[in-house]
Amino acid sequence: MDSRSLRELELANVAKLYGLSDRAAEPVAEKIETVRVDAPAPSAASLGWPELKEAVRTCTACGLCKQRKQAVFGVGNESAAWLFVGEGPGADEDEQGEPFVGQAGRLLDSMLAATGLKRGREVYIANVVKCRPPGNRTPTPEESAACAGYLDRQIELIAPKLIVALGKTAATRLLGTESSLASLRGRVHRYRGTPLVVTYHPAYLLRSLPEKSKAWEDLLLARRSLAGAP
Ligand code: URA
Ligand code: SF4
Repeated sequence: MDSRSLRELELANVAKLYGLSDRAAEPVAEKIETVRVDAPAPSAASLGWPELKEAVRTCTACGLCKQRKQAVFGVGNESAAWLFVGEGPGADEDEQGEPFVGQAGRLLDSMLAATGLKRGREVYIANVVKCRPPGNRTPTPEESAACAGYLDRQIELIAPKLIVALGKTAATRLLGTESSLASLRGRVHRYRGTPLVVTYHPAYLLRSLPEKSKAWEDLLLARRSLAGAP
């Protein structure tokens, strides 16, 4: 068995542990935690998909443009119900032009599969910053802010039913709060009215396997919240 199947199996076991497969989805009472009201960057606010993609491809709004091989726009169903937001491209993504195609991406795909989702089907995947931070460092708040208009416009165009923020950078960017990831987990937030659930970044889960079950709980919360949505 290859390592990918092994990882999927591991996750499937955690799923079983939580009795996911036969548990009926129940709506959760939802507390509104944070509301973000500022408008998207004017330059991207009115763009359609082709113009938005071109704007990102040629963008030089922050220093990350200097060392990228290519900007990584996002991938998936442009009318997806689920939107997953990561931090920024790594080396593999910079090379291939698609988010989450490296090791963390394989774990994300397993997480999607365990939730009954598939990349490209009912899911869209994007990042806070579209260009790779050198050495995979965390993007600075200035870089996140420079790129914000693109992600905001992507979200507007997709109009997802639910957003999953993968890790602190995405949570901070979308909720406008510096609170710790641990403190943001376990409840349904809102980004401009859209329900948003916060969970660990897959790259972190690769280093800290015990947290996998927590990520699983977060995905269950996300699924229940979606099931309870009108
Ligand atoms: N990590 C991210 O946050 N995004 C990617 O696309 C890949 C790894
Ligand atoms: Fe432009 Fe975003 Fe790339 Fe910076 S990270 S150059 S803002 S696309």
